[in-house]
Amino acid sequence: MTGFVIPPPAVPALAVAGSDQVFPLRRVFCVGRNYAAHAREMGSDPNREPPFFFTKPADAVVPASGVLPYPPATRELHHEVELVVALKGGGKDIAADAAMDLVWGYGVGLDLTRRDLQAVAKKDGRPWDMAKGFDASAPCSPLVPAERVGHPREARIWLEVNGQARQKGNLDEMIWPVADVIAALSRLVALAPGDLIFTGTPAGVDALQPGDKVRGGVDGVTTFELEIGGA
Ligand code: MN
Repeated sequence: MTGFVIPPPAVPALAVAGSDQVFPLRRVFCVGRNYAAHAREMGSDPNREPPFFFTKPADAVVPASGVLPYPPATRELHHEVELVVALKGGGKDIAADAAMDLVWGYGVGLDLTRRDLQAVAKKDGRPWDMAKGFDASAPCSPLVPAERVGHPREARIWLEVNGQARQKGNLDEMIWPVADVIAALSRLVALAPGDLIFTGTPAGVDALQPGDKVRGGVDGVTTFELEIGGA
């Protein structure tokens, strides 16, 4: 082998807070319905559902700052603010009590969703990829190392749009805490350093409009602020 036939794509990466180094990204996993109140607002029974997962491409991760383009092919772009976990280790069949040793740090991001496309996909039994994994669908704050912020278990998670509260919750309302999410996911796929996990959203998801100013955060971890660009 003498080289790539085209220039290799760049390694997707996220900024690290307070550092000029970046965190390289491998895969992006997302947990569906991990807060009971959000599961109810989406029409399902939070008590009956084991965690389920979907993915986004690593290059859908973009900085949660500046102006984010309003994506094509939707009239219903929903915000889902989520705690984001960045892994420094991995493996298969990880025990929940060993899972936190694999966590490098945390961020706060948006699992942006073309809710209209997702509704059609659900109705017709089709994949969610184009509803969830579109370009720039995973804006995320710079990551903060766990050695600086610890492993937050109880902290306010919030999102406001144009200064109005939209989403409010607490990490302690997660049906499946981070350790359980890592353990469950590792029974389905081998995890590895560079993986991100979006850990689910609290209640209050709603549509964003071009020009909206969006702020979100997890108290004690970090915050972000961005604007939605024109359609
Ligand atoms: Mn989500």
